[in-house]
Amino acid sequence: MDNQNKIFDTIIIGGGPAGYTAALYAARAGLDTLVLERMSIGGQMALTDIIDNYPGFDEGIDGFTLGQRMQAGAERFGAGTEYASVSSASLEGDIKRLFTDIGELQARTVIIAGGANPRSLGLDGEDKYLGRGVHYCAHCDGRFYRGKRVAVIGGGNSAVEDALYLSRLCERVYLIHRRDSLRASRVYHSALNESENIIQLLGYEAKELVAGEHIEGVKVQAVADGSVSQIDIDGLFISVGRVPDTGIYQGALELDGSGYIIADEDTLTNVPGVFAAGDIRTKPLRQIITACADGAVAAEAAEKYLSRM
Ligand code: NAP
Repeated sequence: MDNQNKIFDTIIIGGGPAGYTAALYAARAGLDTLVLERMSIGGQMALTDIIDNYPGFDEGIDGFTLGQRMQAGAERFGAGTEYASVSSASLEGDIKRLFTDIGELQARTVIIAGGANPRSLGLDGEDKYLGRGVHYCAHCDGRFYRGKRVAVIGGGNSAVEDALYLSRLCERVYLIHRRDSLRASRVYHSALNESENIIQLLGYEAKELVAGEHIEGVKVQAVADGSVSQIDIDGLFISVGRVPDTGIYQGALELDGSGYIIADEDTLTNVPGVFAAGDIRTKPLRQIITACADGAVAAEAAEKYLSRM
């Protein structure tokens, strides 16, 4: 029977660490389980060069490989994967209906593990030059800037990781952050300070792209005195956090002011049979391991819900 003509015990939206851990636990518990992934397995993690804070890998592991292994681990117990994008969902009632670009899919429970997308900075021309000088993923697009000058905007762990990664490829990397201290964990600070080709511009805001056919620079404004100067660069990497991928659930699920699905450690949403796991839910620490933990909890909660049905 094809996937469009059956009712799954659980459909998991998102093939990152939360999604595939939920799939592993659900399939291993005997639930008929399908994971829907829109683009590529591993989610955000797949864009990370080396992950060294996921236990069990004493020399670290690249995010793409870890994603593939999580998928294989879930599929070993019978979980399936479809590459599909969910455009809307009907989540009330005993049978949940998901409308996707491969047709309608149905399940008794849904685990939402769709993660979050990069936040844009809102500069004029940001969209126009997207992929042609403006980028959100250093690990995907950094190789285009070998030997060139780039800037990274942001002061969190991701921005610093991006700057360190790019510093190994590029001639020079400007790290531009709006405050005079970084948000990134202390563990990154010494690597950053030891780097010979990362120039930290703390207390500066990016205001304007300078571009013709290509990106030529970015104008930055000093927060302290308002003075504006131009930094000459070939590419701009924006890393100012992420926004949850919850647009399609507005009105159906309770979201917080930033758009995250309101769910506690138990992953329960306000709709029975619908669970939220990983970066997409309200939570204090968004890490691979906390996403995995959510996946396990959500699968267990789905199993309990099904046994009560
Ligand atoms: P984040 O921690 O939210 O940091 C976002 C950064 O962007 C902050 O420095 C913020 O500035 C800045 N920012 C936000 N909006 C801005 C705007 N409009 N203009 C200029 N700057 C702006 O996001 P993240 O770095 O993507 O990390 C997301 C989560 O993943 C975090 O929980 C992080 O710890 C985790 N993570 C962990 C690791 C790791 O452990 N290896 C690696 C990567 C990410 P302010 O500081 O001024 O607010």
